[in-house]
Amino acid sequence: MRVVVFSAKPHDRDFLPLACADRHDLVFHESRLSAATVPLAAGAEAVCLFVHDHADATILAGLAKLGVKHLALRCAGFNNVDLAAAAQLGLGVARVPAYSPHGVAEHAVALLMTLNRRVHRAYNRVRDGNFALEGLLGFNVHGKTVGIVGTGKIGLCFARIMHGFGARLLAHDPVPNPEAVQLGAEYVALDRLLAGSDIISLHCPLTPATHHLIDATALARMRDGVFLVNTSRGPLVDTAAVIEALKSGKLGALALDVYEEEEGIFYEDLSAAFVPDDLLARLLTFPNVLVTSHQAFFTREALTSIAATTAGNLDDFAAGRPCANAVKA
Ligand code: NAD
Repeated sequence: MRVVVFSAKPHDRDFLPLACADRHDLVFHESRLSAATVPLAAGAEAVCLFVHDHADATILAGLAKLGVKHLALRCAGFNNVDLAAAAQLGLGVARVPAYSPHGVAEHAVALLMTLNRRVHRAYNRVRDGNFALEGLLGFNVHGKTVGIVGTGKIGLCFARIMHGFGARLLAHDPVPNPEAVQLGAEYVALDRLLAGSDIISLHCPLTPATHHLIDATALARMRDGVFLVNTSRGPLVDTAAVIEALKSGKLGALALDVYEEEEGIFYEDLSAAFVPDDLLARLLTFPNVLVTSHQAFFTREALTSIAATTAGNLDDFAAGRPCANAVKA
């Protein structure tokens, strides 16, 4: 089956062909799927998409007109696809529901500990011949209270690591996870979690209910100096509100692997240009803010797993079999 891969990065060219072997004819394009790039899918039966590819109703109609029948998403989220329009057009959609939740949780911990122990500052300081300790004071996570919002696959991995550190766990999730309860996590209302945590890590999906879950009101409820980590989805956090909380000292540190306006910025090399988003540029001026470019998933294990599942989904499409990872409206 001919498959056009949009938003292709070097790692996609490495991992996807290995998983597909010679079963599919993969054509890679660096461009994101958009109204302008739809014609690149000509001749393909399937397109393979990532988080910043747009598949709204108009784009899907364009793809269907070219003969595309399947969308293989090489990610878990599908908020970028109009599923109702896909169904109407007879386009099948499948995703990769899980791939190494450990990798994302471990990245959240890496961000937390970098900010806590000021490793990002120490790295530069020592290279500059400055071996002083002033400004590098951290705290023990042992004995602190860690609030985890969303205790599904990734939140549970994060909870296990924090449990290993000797932290007390507060959790908030409409569906409590028995494995988190076994670790000793106490499920509480969101307000109680916000008010009682020294560290808060977000692991819930982006839905209308969780959009700007962390806004000025939520921040006001938090402890002074709280550490906030978001490796989930950018729009969970109101950026303007966290900037104010950083300025007032309410937020002790902020770690973001995702940003609400990341599309068109993250995954691009803008080092010879400029940061085209003023709020992001402001965030990057704070010494207690650490931003990574949606890389929490980026481990060898996750890429192997994403490629294998995507190849399996394409195999199901090609064989006309029902696909266990199909997403429907
Ligand atoms: P999951 O579906 O296993 O878990 C999500 C949990 O959030 C579920 O237990 C659900 O009940 C809970 N939840 C739903 N609404 C909630 C709410 N209002 N408040 C609190 N909890 C709520 O998903 P997962 O695999 O653990 O992934 C979590 C999120 O991580 C994903 O939604 C995705 O946005 C993000 N993610 C980021 C990366 C990255 O590279 N940064 C990679 C993969 C996933």
